[in-house]
Amino acid sequence: MSANSKTDLIEIDGSFGEGGGQVLRTSLTMSVATRTPVRISAIRAGRPKPGLMRQHLTCVRAAAEISGAAVTGDELGSTEIRFTPQTLGAGDYEFSIGTAGSCMLVLQTIVPALLRADGPSTIMLEGGTHNPAAPPWELIERAYLPALAEMGSEVAGRLESHGFMPAGGGRVVIEVKPGISQAFVKTRRKEIRSQHSEAVFANLDVDIARRELAVIGKQLSIGEDRLLLREVKSQGPGNAVILTIEHDAGTEVIAEFGMRGKSAEVVARSAAREAKVFLGTDAVIGRHLADQLLVPMTLCAGGSFTTVKPSRHTVTNAEIIRKFCPDGIAIERMNDNGSVQLVSVTPMDKQGIST
Ligand code: ATP
Repeated sequence: MSANSKTDLIEIDGSFGEGGGQVLRTSLTMSVATRTPVRISAIRAGRPKPGLMRQHLTCVRAAAEISGAAVTGDELGSTEIRFTPQTLGAGDYEFSIGTAGSCMLVLQTIVPALLRADGPSTIMLEGGTHNPAAPPWELIERAYLPALAEMGSEVAGRLESHGFMPAGGGRVVIEVKPGISQAFVKTRRKEIRSQHSEAVFANLDVDIARRELAVIGKQLSIGEDRLLLREVKSQGPGNAVILTIEHDAGTEVIAEFGMRGKSAEVVARSAAREAKVFLGTDAVIGRHLADQLLVPMTLCAGGSFTTVKPSRHTVTNAEIIRKFCPDGIAIERMNDNGSVQLVSVTPMDKQGIST
C-alpha cells in the first residue's frame, strides 16, 4: 500500500447535469481509485437544499477513511470540499449515517474502489436500506453485487435490519474479496424466465401491501403465487414495492417507495410502468442499474451492455467519469427511437490511468 497521490487537481462543478449527490459520489470514487486530488464545488446545487446532507457527508468520510485522504469542507451543509487521497486500504470498516440516509449509496461510493485494494474488506453500514430515490437492498443483493462478481470479485452481503425514512435503523454488512479481471458484457436478452413482486412493509396496515400487489398482479399479469406480502421489523413505518425480473442474461429489480400522501395504487402503478418499459425492449440492464454500473466497470475491466433510454443520472455520471478517464464511456442508440442503447466502457487501466 504505497502513498502516491497525484499532484494535478481535478475540478468538479457539482451543479453539472443532474446536479445531485451522485456527482459527488462518483467524483469521490474516481478520485480514490485514480489517487487524483479533487475539488468539488456547488455540491448538490440542483437540489432544493444544496450542500452535504448526512448521507453525502458519510460518503465523504468513508471515501477518506479507505484512502487516507486529507479533506477540507467536510461539514453538514458544505457546498465545497477538497479531497486528496493517499492510499487505498483494505480493512474492516463501519459507517453509521446517523439518519435514515441511504446505506446503499455509501456502499456504492466505496465498494467499487475496494475492488482494487490489495486484500479483502468487510463493511458495516447503518442508516436507511429502503429509501425513496435510491437503490433498495434487493437491487444491491440481486443485481448490483452479482454484476460486481461477474467483473471478477467475490462479494457477499446481508441485510441485518430494515431501515426506512425517516426513522432509519437499518444495517447491512458487505464482504469484498477484490478482483477486477473480467469484462462485463451483457448485450443480448433473449427471454424472461420469471417475475415476482414483493410488497415490503413495516408498522403499517397489511391492506396497503395487499392493494399494491393487486395492482401489480393486474398490470403485469403476475399470478397470485408470485405476489408476496413481506412484513418486516423496523424502527418506524415503511413500505416498498419490489419487482424482480429474472431473464437469461441476469436479474432486473424495479422499486417504488410508499410515503405519506401517496396512495398504494399510485406506488404500484409507477413500479408497473417502469417494468413495462423494460419488458417492452430487449435491453439487459434497467434504467437505474445502468448509471450504477459505470464506475465499477471503469475501475474493473470495462465491457458493454444494452439498456433502456439512458436517464439523466447515466448521462451525467458518464461525463463525470470522463473528467478522470477521458476515453471512458460511449453511449449509442441501437434503434431509431432510442428505446434501446448500447453503453461501452473502456477501463481505466486500458486508458493508461494509473493508481
Ligand atoms: P440528492 O438527489 O438528494 O442529491 P442522492 O444523493 O440520493 O441525492 P442522486 O444524485 O439523486 O442522489 O442519485 C441517486 C441514485 O439512486 C442514482 O444512482 C439512481 O439511479 C439511484 N436510484 C434512484 N431511484 C432508484 C430506484 N427506484 N431504484 C434503484 N435505484 C434508484
